[in-house]
Amino acid sequence: MQAHVDEPRVVVFDDVEQLWAALPKYAQDDLSPVVIVGAGACGLSAALHLKDLGLECLVLERDDVPSGSSALSSGFIPAAGTSTQKQLGLQDSPQAFAKDIQDKAHGLAAAHLVSAYTHAIPLAMDALRQAHGLNWEVLDHFLYPGHRQYRMHTLADRTGQALMDQLQRACQDAQVCVLTQARVLELWVLKDTAEVCAVAYQRPDQQMEHVRLKALLLACNGYGGNSQLVSEFMPHMERAAYAGHVGNDGSAVLWGRLLGAQMADMAAFQGHGSWAHPHGVLVTWALMMEGAIQVNALGQRFHNECLGYSEAALEVLAQPQGIAFNVFDAPLLELARTFPDFCELERLGGVKRFESIQSLAQWIGCSTEQLTQTLEGLVHNQERFACADPSRVEEDRVFERALTLPLFAIKVTGALFHTQGGLEIDAHCRVLRSDQTTLPNIWAGGGAARGVSGPAVWGYLSGNGLLSAMASAYIAAQAIKEAVDA
Ligand SMILES: Cc1cc2nc3c(=O)[nH]c(=O)nc-3n(C[C@H](O)[C@H](O)[C@H](O)COP(=O)(O)OP(=O)(O)OC[C@H]3O[C@@H](n4cnc5c(N)ncnc54)[C@H](O)[C@@H]3O)c2cc1C
Repeated sequence: MQAHVDEPRVVVFDDVEQLWAALPKYAQDDLSPVVIVGAGACGLSAALHLKDLGLECLVLERDDVPSGSSALSSGFIPAAGTSTQKQLGLQDSPQAFAKDIQDKAHGLAAAHLVSAYTHAIPLAMDALRQAHGLNWEVLDHFLYPGHRQYRMHTLADRTGQALMDQLQRACQDAQVCVLTQARVLELWVLKDTAEVCAVAYQRPDQQMEHVRLKALLLACNGYGGNSQLVSEFMPHMERAAYAGHVGNDGSAVLWGRLLGAQMADMAAFQGHGSWAHPHGVLVTWALMMEGAIQVNALGQRFHNECLGYSEAALEVLAQPQGIAFNVFDAPLLELARTFPDFCELERLGGVKRFESIQSLAQWIGCSTEQLTQTLEGLVHNQERFACADPSRVEEDRVFERALTLPLFAIKVTGALFHTQGGLEIDAHCRVLRSDQTTLPNIWAGGGAARGVSGPAVWGYLSGNGLLSAMASAYIAAQAIKEAVDA
């Protein structure tokens, strides 16, 4: 047993003999072909794909129960060309999906990953459905910003928790070994080759345990839970609420730095401009797409809400007190009530009803005249907005109808959901060094790797997070199987 250490680190050995001598006896006798760090959507689905390929793995998870940001998410996964879409008669293709991703990212998303992920995701989703009973549905009553086809897949409950529950159930059925309360802190690496031969993980009693491996998959998400790294890479989000999993402490980035790995898109992130305040509940952006608006504390609109919820985080944070109000009417309330987190917010009292513009203005604290002008101007006025990013000016959306009484409103702020930058990987999810050569036996997926959202917040197309998690899991499993068998 070894002393307690609490920072992710790399332990370097001159040769195999030295490493072997440092290993406890139980670890010398045992080898797990694949070790996966993190039991979120990426880690658990990778474990299932490995199982389908006949390869055993060990998933190490720091928490008592696997959850991660995946359980906090809405659980919506975009995929083009799945059997579920085909059954619904929806014509879609990886190419069409790739175009939507690149259009949102102004052509700056990592092209090799956009191609790899859009081709892998229908295979991943179909495999989870056919081999493990995850019965996907497709949301086909509204389009998320930037998607030209209905391709958002979800489970019946429409929550990330349901996704995690199903993945865990499938892992149990498939007898995947998931060890919880196991925070991986050390990668044991050979000096000359940078091969990872073992990892050490901390148990609740602070003691370290070890496991040998042939292949390592980092599925431990990004650095949204590490305020130092957030300050370093995205100082403008320092004061934003962090809505993701606190355990995502940047382990992959910290190990990557020590191993000389390349990082990419480090300033990119998924934000959200509709995080109920002070309740801390996600308010679906479907409201905006179907006609709701955001106003600030002065009763003025300040951006084109249909550009996307991610960049909306910056727009909301740029308003007085970093606060905005989502305003909508009764037909939109019905739509919102089909989302479980909205129902939860209603139960908590976060959705307010107003019989007049005056009473809404009073609640917001703005002038009735200004709010009336904003609401009456929706259909006729075409504004141009100066954005929080000074290089951009956006034209307003076209409203088909005005909002009618009674009105409903929710107080919201801008939040950081997860980081989109991370380890640079090749199209097989192998981690790359800064000279573009691959590290010998480390793969990365989900939020641990760079995403497909380009270099900044405006590049995030709805669902890029779980797309990356689920597609990289499938790709990494195939690549690891090939490497381990070779
Ligand atoms: C409120 C919210 C809503 C969202 N909604 C959506 C959505 O609808 N669609 C979408 O595409 N994306 C959404 N996202 C983003 C999405 O949740 C993430 O992109 C996705 O869950 C990342 O999956 P992952 O497996 O990489 O990470 P995670 O699910 O976070 O899993 C990583 C796991 O690694 C563990 N871990 C970390 N470090 C270590 C360590 N050193 N040792 C052991 N274990 C470790 C963590 O505890 C965690 O369980 C949302 C995010 C939030 C916060």
